[in-house]
Amino acid sequence: MPSAAQAPVTGANIIANTLKDLGVTSIFGIVGVPVSDIAEQAINIGIRFIGFRNEQAASYAATAYGFLTGKPGVGNASENNFPLLLLGGSIETHLVTKGGFQELDSISLLTPHSKLSVRPPSVDSLPSIIANAYRCAFYGRPGTGFVDLPADIINDPLTSDDFEYIHETPRVADPPKGASDVQRLDKVVNLIKGAQAPLVLIGKGAAYGHAENVIRNFINRTHIPFLPSPMGKGVVPDSHVNNVSSARSAALKSADVVLIFGARLNWIFHYGEAPKWNPAAQFIQVDISPEEMGRNAADAELSLVGDVAVVVSQLAQRLSGWKHEPLGSEYIKDIDIAKQKNEQISALAAKDSSIPLSYGRAFDVIKKVLHTLSPPSDGGICYIAEGANTMDISRSIFPLEHPRLRLDAGTYATMGVGLPYAIAAWEAYNGPNPQASSGSAPRKKIVAIEGDSAFGFSGMEVETMARMGMDVLIFVINNGGIYFGDSNSAEDWTTKQGKTKRNEPGLRSWALGWEVNYQKFAEACGGIGFLVRTPEELQNATVAGFNAKVPTIVNVIIQSGKVEKATFGWQVSPKRILKSARL
Ligand code: ADP
Repeated sequence: MPSAAQAPVTGANIIANTLKDLGVTSIFGIVGVPVSDIAEQAINIGIRFIGFRNEQAASYAATAYGFLTGKPGVGNASENNFPLLLLGGSIETHLVTKGGFQELDSISLLTPHSKLSVRPPSVDSLPSIIANAYRCAFYGRPGTGFVDLPADIINDPLTSDDFEYIHETPRVADPPKGASDVQRLDKVVNLIKGAQAPLVLIGKGAAYGHAENVIRNFINRTHIPFLPSPMGKGVVPDSHVNNVSSARSAALKSADVVLIFGARLNWIFHYGEAPKWNPAAQFIQVDISPEEMGRNAADAELSLVGDVAVVVSQLAQRLSGWKHEPLGSEYIKDIDIAKQKNEQISALAAKDSSIPLSYGRAFDVIKKVLHTLSPPSDGGICYIAEGANTMDISRSIFPLEHPRLRLDAGTYATMGVGLPYAIAAWEAYNGPNPQASSGSAPRKKIVAIEGDSAFGFSGMEVETMARMGMDVLIFVINNGGIYFGDSNSAEDWTTKQGKTKRNEPGLRSWALGWEVNYQKFAEACGGIGFLVRTPEELQNATVAGFNAKVPTIVNVIIQSGKVEKATFGWQVSPKRILKSARL
């Protein structure tokens, strides 16, 4: 803690020192009055400040950094359950309710979206309040701890009285890990042993909880088929023989006992309900959050509350010597047939030789080049995927052998997270104080696969990457529009370039600029860019972008106006929900 002799000392010094005491090494934010001095003081004591071009983007990045490192990211989000310490500035205490500059009751605004929202009443309370918000963010179910910081508390010089009352920052140890109650475990184990068609769902809670070794052992020993969620990929390698991702629909239709390791029965898993699921399926939730239990089709009586790694090892102990015997089972036969069929469809899509490229072909080219440069077994690439078709189709094409190497739009399907998440991943894996780990590669190439619409939400963050020396490789999958693009509008666009044909009544709402030179964003900021149309151009640009030491945008012109999904629908809702939505 600074002493009065080092004056002028302000709340900003105390805040920066508290963050350092808590072990914070990077902050994601945007400066402005009154928070700028917090960032300045943080930089002075060796904390890296990553200044964004948009506050939303900074918060997105901080949450993803929290997910990858297991410690709250610090930034200026709640739906993904990622840990975040959010620091916001506000007007001077004596101006509250007077209509001061940018006055906002941010505590009321953020209370429903955070685990703790608090405004320190005095400068001496800063260390304990910040430490508490930090602790709340990652103890129990991860979420947001928000501290509202009035300008006077940040900027006024400390008095000798203040010094007298300021205490050391409380130590925040790693969160304790809970185990499940034993009676419940016995009940669940009997259910698993009696299952004809068991299935394990692996969610991003398992990735966040570093449960990979325990879950791999569990699957290896029990032989139960498993299905990862989009961000649960890699907890067990995608190449594992029990992975049923390519037979997703068949597995959901037949599974009778479903173990859920760190995932929710929300839209991503179709609420656990028919028509996607077998209506007789019984769900065993393993989750850190008691409030999650019994949600939708789940039965709270079968739920195991605790840390996923701890609870799965409890289960494994009790199932020791038992394995699911798939021989002759209709369930496994159905899955195998579906796997073969779907894998054939994907293989065909990958061979599509048309120009402009299809999604399937473009991703196949990128994948093959990247795998040559960095085999999946090393875990040397962290993928970010964002957009509608771009995200959905690429998910099944890029396999992962290690966890925490894929980030996407997540639980809230938020657009605009792609570039900030890429920055977070770069910082977590390659920053001066990397705390995240996965696979054997010490350093990771960050590859962001962005739809052209998705890219637009936070496109300016390319400048952040360039300024911070982050060599992220970005693919803009460019079909000139939202979802499947709009090739008709393209003709309207060419009209504007001087041709005669015009589509009435003009541009559709799906349309974006036709063949926009997104690669020039990188060039403008000090990175490099490529516009590609053919497989060969895409190959060369991928190699160059992978090896580049600056941010690189590969602008891939693909087919427009055509949905080409070799994958499976997400948003199938139970009938009664569809009905009420129509009213
Ligand atoms: P996905 O999107 O991958 O399906 P969700 O975000 O819906 O996953 O669910 C993740 C779940 O994991 C949340 O319900 C969260 O409470 C839970 N979770 C997070 N960390 C842990 C942990 N260490 N142990 C058990 N559950 C966890």
